[in-house]
Amino acid sequence: MSSNTPVIALAGNPNSGKTSIFNAMTGARQHVANYPGITVEIKEGHTQVDGARIGIVDLPGTYSLTAYSPDEVAARDYLIDRHPDAVIHVVDALNMERNLYLTAQILELGIPVIIALNMVDLAEARGLFVDTEKLSSLLGVPVVETVGNRSKGTEMLIETAYQIATEKRNWDPIRITYGEACDSALVKLEKAVSDSELFSASIPSRWLSLKLLEQDAHTLARIREHGGENTESVLDLAEELADSVLREMDDETEGVIADHRYGFAAGIVREVMELPKAGRTYTSDRIDRILTHRFLGMLIMAGILFGLFQFTFSVSETPISWVEGFFEWLHDLAWNGLPEGFLRSMTVQGVIDGVGGVVGFVPLIMFMFFFIALLEDSGYMARIAFLMDRVFRKFGLHGNSIVPLIVSGGIMGGCAVPGIMATRTLRNPRERFATILTAPFMNCGAKLPVYAVLIAAFFPSNAGLMLFLLTVISWTFALLSAKLLRSTVLRGESTPFVMELPPYRMPSWRSVLIHTWERTWLYLKKAGTVILLASVVVWVLMTFPTLPEHEAAELSPSELPAASLSNSFAGRIGRTLEEVTMPLMGFDWRTDVALIAGFAAKEIVISTLSTAYSLGEIDDENPQPLVSRLAHQPGWNPVIAFALLMFTMLYVPCIATIAVIRRETRSWGWAGFAVVYTTGFAAIVATAVYQIGSLL
Ligand code: GDP
Ligand code: MG
Repeated sequence: MSSNTPVIALAGNPNSGKTSIFNAMTGARQHVANYPGITVEIKEGHTQVDGARIGIVDLPGTYSLTAYSPDEVAARDYLIDRHPDAVIHVVDALNMERNLYLTAQILELGIPVIIALNMVDLAEARGLFVDTEKLSSLLGVPVVETVGNRSKGTEMLIETAYQIATEKRNWDPIRITYGEACDSALVKLEKAVSDSELFSASIPSRWLSLKLLEQDAHTLARIREHGGENTESVLDLAEELADSVLREMDDETEGVIADHRYGFAAGIVREVMELPKAGRTYTSDRIDRILTHRFLGMLIMAGILFGLFQFTFSVSETPISWVEGFFEWLHDLAWNGLPEGFLRSMTVQGVIDGVGGVVGFVPLIMFMFFFIALLEDSGYMARIAFLMDRVFRKFGLHGNSIVPLIVSGGIMGGCAVPGIMATRTLRNPRERFATILTAPFMNCGAKLPVYAVLIAAFFPSNAGLMLFLLTVISWTFALLSAKLLRSTVLRGESTPFVMELPPYRMPSWRSVLIHTWERTWLYLKKAGTVILLASVVVWVLMTFPTLPEHEAAELSPSELPAASLSNSFAGRIGRTLEEVTMPLMGFDWRTDVALIAGFAAKEIVISTLSTAYSLGEIDDENPQPLVSRLAHQPGWNPVIAFALLMFTMLYVPCIATIAVIRRETRSWGWAGFAVVYTTGFAAIVATAVYQIGSLL
């Protein structure tokens, strides 16, 4: 064939109807091609569109581009070595899932593709209807319905194929996620691959990396044969990474990758087909009919999540008391062991109390991460995302936003730091940023102590109901805020994306434990670095300048802490803010100081309030617990308490979260925006609560 004749290749599963379509297009103008070194028969022919001559090639049938049989190797090598100008990928409408498994791989090649949805006559006869428009938008390629053996649709097919073969637009390879283990290995491999020269052909480096990670024998052999710089080091790295995935997942990379491809295929089928096919054999599918059911699935999901988190709270109670006991012991030890003065005060009240308040939550967080890892590894998290996708879409988010939101505290307790890191599974940057900016609205573990004290003081008879209400409220604000962001600063199309539904599997303990530990470690690091620093800064702000000696001498020991605080930098800032916050939200200067301190970590709000109301443990002969003190404090009432609850839920995320927002968005601008946006949002809500509440 002459070089300026566009060539279009037909690829697909055996018996999908390639040869029928080939015959319909070429008629008698065909012959068996002769490619050196290939024993498999490849037929070539040609046809005309608008007077232009087009070459057509009928490739051998293949189920996968992980080639085993000579047929499969021939088809694959043709696609990657000979660069057809377009590929007509014939998909059998009767066996969508199996066919789409190949589709996933072809689309990863980043070559011009058009899908011929063949056998639609038989599908219709069986009552199966495929939403081709949706299929086309999900995959990002044109889809034409055909009946190959009766030449129906083939004319339209070749015209569209000719069009995409000649228009020379960019075809970005699709990116399927293969789970955390494989994805992070792929990132490393991709870098190594693009830094070396393994193949002369223009294959996407991710595709090559996938083959390397799968340890695809044929590809490895070809890379060795081709030689070139860095080849050996890339091959070594690939083997090492494949091994580490095997160790983590208890499964060969090839199996893990195949699972996700089937998940991709199953997800698409679930989206584009009205009826699930009768008589399918996978157990996963039968389970999914119930678990992803519109209503039943939602109910089961709510039940599972509720049960899990109830359980998490009850099992972590004891270990939390151990950790707290340890810090109390440390507190006393340092208090008694250090000479009186600033050093003691800073070590004990700044460092030990500040860090202890955060570390105390580690058992809870660890159990929660453990269960989340279980949900992810078993495949159920993907179903939760699938169910939530319908709801989230309306608010401009994606089904995959669910994990970050839950990890951030969607069901009480959690942490926005790992939550925001979990947004990496979101591909659309706008959806991702919207998730990042709303995740801090969730009720993280640090807000719990604040809620606990305020509820006990002002709503003691409805504690459980209040916690439930706060959960509902945080979700409502998160979703409304997402909608707001997505229709203003983050406006834009939501890219259609298929939820992956990987088969259910027994979670691998190693992988669950690794993920649990990774996330727990992140949380601990936050306590050890940012919070340590912030606690000291807050301590300084609350301690200096000190009261003049003669003034201090006149005060009783129980009055002293509040008076010192009031005189400190923090107290002065609080007094200035009071001018604004008092009329708007009913917050006095002590509350303002506590909220400022909460910027370091929200649990500090409570310890600061204690100090501000003279509840420092120091020498207080008759300490009233903060709860009853607040309840009887003049100027406090349930309306103010509720306004403060709202403010605490919504206002500026803690320093660690801001830091991670900056890292994940790679922009100080977005981090700054998060500060202003959340605080503004909180101020408006708290003001509304106070103003309306005061009227009633
Ligand atoms: P290949 O293996 O992909 O080349 O598939 P063939 O073109 O050889 O087709 C396999 C069988 O399916 C043949 O018996 C075709 O006549 C039949 N076939 C192909 N396309 C269609 C179609 O759209 N509808 C129906 N009913 N049969 C088809
Ligand atoms: Mg054939």
